Amino acid sequence: MTNRFVALLFCAVLITACEQGETPDATPELTVRYAAVELADISTAAALTARCEEEEMTFRAHFAELEAHTGTPTIDSYYQSLDSLFSSIDTVSSTAQSLAGIHPDEALREAGDACSQLLSKVTTDMNLSRSLYDAVSRLNVDDADDVTRFSIDKLLLSFRLAGVDLDDAGRERVRELNDNIVAIGQDFDRNIRDDVRYLEVDSADDLAGLPDDYIAAHQPNEDGKILISTRYPDVFPLFEYAENDDLRKEMAMLYNLRGYPKNDEQLRLLLEARYELAQLIGFDNYADLITADKMSGSAGRVAEFIEELKGYTGEVQDREYEVLLARLRQDDPDAERVESWQRSFVVSKVRREQYKVDSKVTRQYFSYNNSRDGILLLVQELFGVRVEPWETDTWHEDVEAFELYDGDKVLGRFYLDMHPREGKYQHAAMMPFVNGIEGQQLPVAGLICNFPRGDEPMQFSQVVTFLHEFGHLIHWQFAGHHQWSNVSGITTEWDFVEAPSQMLQEWIWDYDTVSQFALNASGEVLPKDLHGRMVDARDFGIGMGTRAQLSYAALSLSMYNRDPADVDFDAMAAEITREFTRFEPLQGTHFWAAFGHLNGYSAIYYTYQWSLAIATDMFTPFKENGLRNVEVAGAYRDKVLAAGGSRPAEELVTDFLGREISFEPYADRLRGTGLQE
Ligand SMILES: [Zn+2]
Repeated sequence: MTNRFVALLFCAVLITACEQGETPDATPELTVRYAAVELADISTAAALTARCEEEEMTFRAHFAELEAHTGTPTIDSYYQSLDSLFSSIDTVSSTAQSLAGIHPDEALREAGDACSQLLSKVTTDMNLSRSLYDAVSRLNVDDADDVTRFSIDKLLLSFRLAGVDLDDAGRERVRELNDNIVAIGQDFDRNIRDDVRYLEVDSADDLAGLPDDYIAAHQPNEDGKILISTRYPDVFPLFEYAENDDLRKEMAMLYNLRGYPKNDEQLRLLLEARYELAQLIGFDNYADLITADKMSGSAGRVAEFIEELKGYTGEVQDREYEVLLARLRQDDPDAERVESWQRSFVVSKVRREQYKVDSKVTRQYFSYNNSRDGILLLVQELFGVRVEPWETDTWHEDVEAFELYDGDKVLGRFYLDMHPREGKYQHAAMMPFVNGIEGQQLPVAGLICNFPRGDEPMQFSQVVTFLHEFGHLIHWQFAGHHQWSNVSGITTEWDFVEAPSQMLQEWIWDYDTVSQFALNASGEVLPKDLHGRMVDARDFGIGMGTRAQLSYAALSLSMYNRDPADVDFDAMAAEITREFTRFEPLQGTHFWAAFGHLNGYSAIYYTYQWSLAIATDMFTPFKENGLRNVEVAGAYRDKVLAAGGSRPAEELVTDFLGREISFEPYADRLRGTGLQE
């Protein structure tokens, strides 16, 4: 109090010096506080809500203190205080949001959602605060290190992209639009999630071709009908294995009606709100706004990228399509074309017959326990780290907890919550709990998956998913050691985020790695020739698959790079499907109504392909020097993973490769010319 009084007097006398920023903070003792959450303290919905409301008041007070700050802000005091506030909100919000997806208690899941919504309003208000923005703009960065400058620039950009430059009415409208977008998006997602449809099958004979355990799990009901839902575990095996062509077609019709007609209106509202928001902030459209802080930098560059990849995949898609058509004609000589509901079935047949790879056989070598141990071993050997059990509270008895050590130093902590249960998030993800801050808090995250348990076999694709998600996890652990929250952890550009996890998937194609853990129930190792055939079969279908991905990327971009009044959902979806794929749009369906990424990813579904192009390039030093080369792995760990978001991703990758990024290795793979080694 005394200091502040003296400083104010000092400024009143030497007003010019204050304006030039030569005096320290007028209020030097700004709060620096890093909120920590112990799971044991919030094991009931009531406890979570109480804690969240208490934190919200503390955050608001901290925010008000920063807004009331007078005098010259400094990095050591003002920026440190502001960053600790952002970090604290993030810790409480991430923990609440993660628990909302995984906690066994439904009331606690709802409390977690409510908490993250409550705290997101604080963040929105901070991002629209002229006072915070002006103070950060006035920081003297002359003596600051590069990472601090980068952190400050990044924060200023995020303020501007949030609309901080607007007048009061404009900022109020931004706040309204953001609230609307969240609410509409939640409706859009819920309409997809809740719209589970059922196909009625008369008898088990119609399920011919499907695995025995699938048929056993689908017994007739009291009316003698078998019900098959549109949920993933029901749908994907049916598309791959069911011999009955009509059954696959009926399911494709049903599956591509999910979300319709409800989402017709929700999607329209979502596009309109985002378009208005983008225009208000000074962009032509939402696609330009959302790409402004990505590696791509603009919607125009994204469109070029999609065209570029389209160019690489035309011939290979045609070749693959001819293989499918020829195989289809063996059973049906009159077939004129391959339909969309036949693709997965015929691809799987070709893999079994021509490559001798049968997923029913390969899965016997990948029990959950062995796969988990194998992946932990790989990461320890490759990156020179150690994984130890972590004694701590968790939210369910299935959850395992670990610590990651580098020598004697704990680098981070993680949970493995890997098996399905009622009410749990149904896909696979790495969920953040704590973003690491050097000297303050260790990174903590959870892998949330829905795999078989114990010695039960996993699908090979699930093992690949496990590796993928583990790639996010180690990125989180290695990157969470910077001073500022917006450069620590996975804070790199969104279109780079998938690259480390996509790259870690490559090790599944390395026999030295896989043979360490792929054992069947009798303890026999996955035969080398079978693994070799899996490698051969790996890229069969890559042309069609990539074109399908590009069609989604083009649809996501096209919905958002223009005035929504010009968007006709059905016409646009049909046109893009025809432009990119060899398959006719399914008449009478509306697959865009269940394309959930149109909410969460909006215009930037391209990010998966962009990251994959970079991942393929980052993998070249491993291809040249060996996948088990610890020097290359160490350089990758230090220069790319540990760097987090402390520099633009392009610089990190360039530093690691010793040259500029090239999309050529990915182009080679897509053309089918990158496989000979
Ligand atoms: Zn991912």
